[in-house]
Amino acid sequence: MNKLPSLTPITSQWMKQIKDDFHLLNDLVANYGSPINLINPSLMKDNYQSYQEVLESFGLKYQVFFARKANKCQAYVLKAHQEGMGIDTASLEEYIQCLELGLPANQLIITAAIKNENLLRRAVKEGSLIIIDNEDECAQIQRIAKDQNKKALVAFRLSGFQSANGEKLYSRFGFDISDFIRFVDDSLLRYDSLEYRGLHFHLDGYSMDDRGAALESCLAVVDVLEAKGLKTEFIDIGGGLLTQYLENEQEWEVFWSQLTRALQGEIPPITFGNNGLGLRFEHDQVVGKRQTYPFWNTCAKGKFLQNILSYQTSKGERIGDAISKRGIELRLEPGRSLLDQTGMTVAKVAFRKKDSRGDWLIGLEMNMSQLMSGSADFLLDPWVVYREKQSDSKSVGVYFTGAYCLERDVILKRKIELHQLPEVGDMVVFPNTAGYMMHFFESSAHLFPLASNLIYDESKGLQQDAFVEDDSLAHK
Ligand SMILES: *Cc1c(COP(=O)(O)O)cnc(C)c1O
Repeated sequence: MNKLPSLTPITSQWMKQIKDDFHLLNDLVANYGSPINLINPSLMKDNYQSYQEVLESFGLKYQVFFARKANKCQAYVLKAHQEGMGIDTASLEEYIQCLELGLPANQLIITAAIKNENLLRRAVKEGSLIIIDNEDECAQIQRIAKDQNKKALVAFRLSGFQSANGEKLYSRFGFDISDFIRFVDDSLLRYDSLEYRGLHFHLDGYSMDDRGAALESCLAVVDVLEAKGLKTEFIDIGGGLLTQYLENEQEWEVFWSQLTRALQGEIPPITFGNNGLGLRFEHDQVVGKRQTYPFWNTCAKGKFLQNILSYQTSKGERIGDAISKRGIELRLEPGRSLLDQTGMTVAKVAFRKKDSRGDWLIGLEMNMSQLMSGSADFLLDPWVVYREKQSDSKSVGVYFTGAYCLERDVILKRKIELHQLPEVGDMVVFPNTAGYMMHFFESSAHLFPLASNLIYDESKGLQQDAFVEDDSLAHK
């Protein structure tokens, strides 16, 4: 057998310690079912620091809001708050839960794409900032604020920026920037129960230059607003700051070149059903675009932010300096990148068998929705934790399959090379899954219960008592 390409994940000490302890994992799964999500929120602090260092080096006033949609656990909300971050909420339920956890309303912002009446009423009553997406929301919030005899704190989401290379960026969210200027001229001042605080954007994709260019466009809007007597306190650049998942660039390159060869039929498939993950073989060539997250990248977290803020404006200064000079606060809303290294998912092997193509399938007690994001595959090698290591084992390529009655419930599309065939009851650990992988699409089809989320307190050592269920965290 040709060696299958590996994609070695960056992992941290706590993950390695737990995966070396089969009996601990076995006990946890016996108690809580399979799969389980293991969460260690303490590492959020390092991720936050990586942003703080950059923001401080520009002398910026700043606030970071954790975008909690990236994971459902309350433990992250509490940790983010403890570290001095605010929380970006995207639904009434996310918002109310933060309030119930005792977070102050002025540390919560609301960016929900759809804001129902109850969410808006509550936000106005509590005095949380609402990011407005369109004029219908202005009218609704105006009515609610008048009813309550209050001012609603608002910022406006903008989109339709010129990208760094000159084309207009499409988004279904927010006010188109050119319409917004018209809206400011014609209508904004009529909404006298809205108290304007700032501008917001969140761009799809991972371009640092586009974000820099969008910031520069926002500064022009700040001037227009100022001429109307509206002072901009902050600009919020949303999330989408990259996370670096992989150890090794060469492995990444080899994987994609092998996938291309497999699609061309030069080597046996290295993905289930020869899935191209966005690439296709057509008319003698490989076409299409990778539909996967850039798991390998060289500009993650603080470095990503550093590059945005170093964007050269048309006046030849760094955009970060321009914002800092004007005394405008910079806000960001990272989700995924704040969760880097803070979680992993563990599932139990239910069976092994060979399929009709001669491939080994390893059935796991979990389903595809429990390890799924917008990316066509999660391109990190899992760890298999064997109850017993064999000395004379032979390496084997396997696919991990899930519990849904769908042919496509294959947990990883990639064929994984293991040095030993797993046994029933062995454990498979998927590292670094906290950002979107474990929760964003998790469903309870077939009435399967949702996975337990266990919060790990490292100070208690490697034992069952060091883990508590997120659901049981005390409400204030
Ligand atoms: C999704 C989202 C975020 C967080 O994005 P990440 O990629 O997780 O950093 C922040 N703000 C808004 C408005 C979003 O929609």
